[in-house]
Amino acid sequence: MCMLTDSLPAAGPAPEASAFTMEDKAVSAEEEEVFSPEELMRRAIALSVESVAQGGGPFGAVIAREGKIIATGANRVTLDCDPTAHAEIQAIREAARRLGTFDLGGCEIYTSCEPCPMCLGAIYWAHLDRMYYGNSKKDAAAIGFDDAYIYEELDRNPASRRLKSEVLLPDEAIEAFRAWEKKEDKTEY
Ligand SMILES: [Zn+2]
Repeated sequence: MCMLTDSLPAAGPAPEASAFTMEDKAVSAEEEEVFSPEELMRRAIALSVESVAQGGGPFGAVIAREGKIIATGANRVTLDCDPTAHAEIQAIREAARRLGTFDLGGCEIYTSCEPCPMCLGAIYWAHLDRMYYGNSKKDAAAIGFDDAYIYEELDRNPASRRLKSEVLLPDEAIEAFRAWEKKEDKTEY
């Protein structure tokens, strides 16, 4: 479990930083090796098992291009106090950073479990070409990770969702959109 005040280092790298460096080296050594889809999924599964031992959630992910590992990720929600630190998000962020692009077209994701709506959305935004998953949503629900209600919420009209929401200051909010439309040197994504 994360304890915000206790885990903030006064100076120097956080404990996570050294773990990240080790991971970084492991990926670098492998990056020219070409793996089969089964081997890449086994890597994602191994990350999910290691994650449990390290205090994270039981999820791991690998992003590969033509069988070569670009990035890996494991669930760090409780370790980092980050509700968005799902394995797929971690892997997408790392892959994009390594490749220096926000477009991961040409890459594939291997995730130890069928993604939640947030990660599925991120996979679409990242333009990943293909997804492989091991466990299903049903398997995840059986151990307490039930995201079915989020999928159900997406189908509902905003007014009838569990999450209360209302439109506020749309006339002011539109300003950024007008600026975006006018901008000629924008980077579209
Ligand atoms: Zn997710």
